[in-house]
Amino acid sequence: MIKATSSLHIFNSLSGKKEHFTPIEEKHVGMYVCGPTVYSNVHLGNCRTFMSFDLVYRYLKHLGYTVRYVRNITDAGHLEHDADEGEDRISKKARLEQIEPMEVVQRYTVDFHQTMAAFNTLPPNIEPTATGHIIEQIEIVKSILDAGFAYEVNGSVYFDVQKFNESNAYGELSGRKIEDMIHNTRVLSGQSEKKAPQDFALWKKAEPQHIMRWPSPWGDGFPGWHLECTAMSTKYLGEQFDIHGGGMDLKFPHHECEIAQAKAINKKSPVNTWMHANMLTLNGKKMAKSTGNNILPNELFEGSNPILSKPFSPDVTRFFMLQAHYRSVLDLSSDALEAAEKGYNRLINGIKMLEHLPQSNKSSVDIDTHIQSYYDAMNDDFNSPVLIAQLFETLKLIHKVAEGEEYLTGEAIKKLAKTIHSFVYDVLGLTLNVSNNEDNTYIDKALEVLIEMREQARASKDFATSDQIRDALLSKGIQLKDGKEGTSYTLVS
Ligand SMILES: [Zn+2]
Repeated sequence: MIKATSSLHIFNSLSGKKEHFTPIEEKHVGMYVCGPTVYSNVHLGNCRTFMSFDLVYRYLKHLGYTVRYVRNITDAGHLEHDADEGEDRISKKARLEQIEPMEVVQRYTVDFHQTMAAFNTLPPNIEPTATGHIIEQIEIVKSILDAGFAYEVNGSVYFDVQKFNESNAYGELSGRKIEDMIHNTRVLSGQSEKKAPQDFALWKKAEPQHIMRWPSPWGDGFPGWHLECTAMSTKYLGEQFDIHGGGMDLKFPHHECEIAQAKAINKKSPVNTWMHANMLTLNGKKMAKSTGNNILPNELFEGSNPILSKPFSPDVTRFFMLQAHYRSVLDLSSDALEAAEKGYNRLINGIKMLEHLPQSNKSSVDIDTHIQSYYDAMNDDFNSPVLIAQLFETLKLIHKVAEGEEYLTGEAIKKLAKTIHSFVYDVLGLTLNVSNNEDNTYIDKALEVLIEMREQARASKDFATSDQIRDALLSKGIQLKDGKEGTSYTLVS
């Protein structure tokens, strides 16, 4: 690996700036990412978020860090509405389908894992669940009460935001001011137990019909949604850790509340770098089940959604996602996926050509500048679209070398091949399985037969037949190239 002259910079949502990344413990990174609430099939927008953090995880590993990546499963406590109201999402699904809540959890956890595997995202090192950490959550509620930042009402415990704000800055992550929050939130209804609308539940009393319940010092109940991430990140990564990620929509209130909870008990900021991945829109509009502007990963792979012209493989979808920076909004459409598929195929074919390039005694190009550009792109806040653009620059070079316009030594070709493989497979996480539901090994074999027939025709000076084979293939978009090592092919569009 060549030594990168640039160093990793990450955009920190907390400071609003790109910052030089220095882990707390040298060579080690602790990273926590908010995982899914497993009450329905995983949303394609969520898949984008998890792919973004998969890219972060992969690149940190590529740089030689030992990463402890924790991504939780929310299997209790996430209510329908942000203001601590409505039913628990998992309980509701269980009630509607007349099954156990844990059957709901199991079904959608399996779906989540299968989808993540299809997209070739690496599993986290620890995948803790909210229900597996009830004791830890109760302990945190006790500590926040002891510190004087929470109050108990009728078996529920709420975080006192105003009290916290007297000695801390509530809203530092989302940039919201508590005065505006008080101004903009609706007046509490008469039934509310909270002192102020911006207070949030740490522990909620379970009504008799609530099936997901645990005993606590305040009676039977269940934890508030924000609490689990504080409990699990502290348990596995410590009171202060390097990176906390999640979707943009979690910045407020979820992550703001996580900061408040942790600061209330530890008196320090829990996370050095906050990262937020932007959303995925569909045909220019926000994805929502309620409006029907929605698509599931499986519909994409099968081509079974009416907005699609054809199926798209998980690999092409991943390539499509990585062509946008994780902090930009990305719009998915059939046309955009088709364009990504073309680019993806060009990339595969270019990488294949690397193996067959002619070798020279000298190089006419310094490949280290190409390699350096990959590191520069990724060191600049994981800029995968720039990395992909740089890889396409290298593909141009590969074509020029194949055509004899530029030349490279065997050693340079080997080094380039090794680096490209590492960036494409290990960092971008592309499997380079053939897209378009074709199997290239059969195409390779069929082309080998045709190439051999053409060789035989040429050997017996039957140039009419050899040209006919070459031209017929070219008319179908397959170009034969004759080199020292024999004949190879590329796809031309
Ligand atoms: Zn979370």
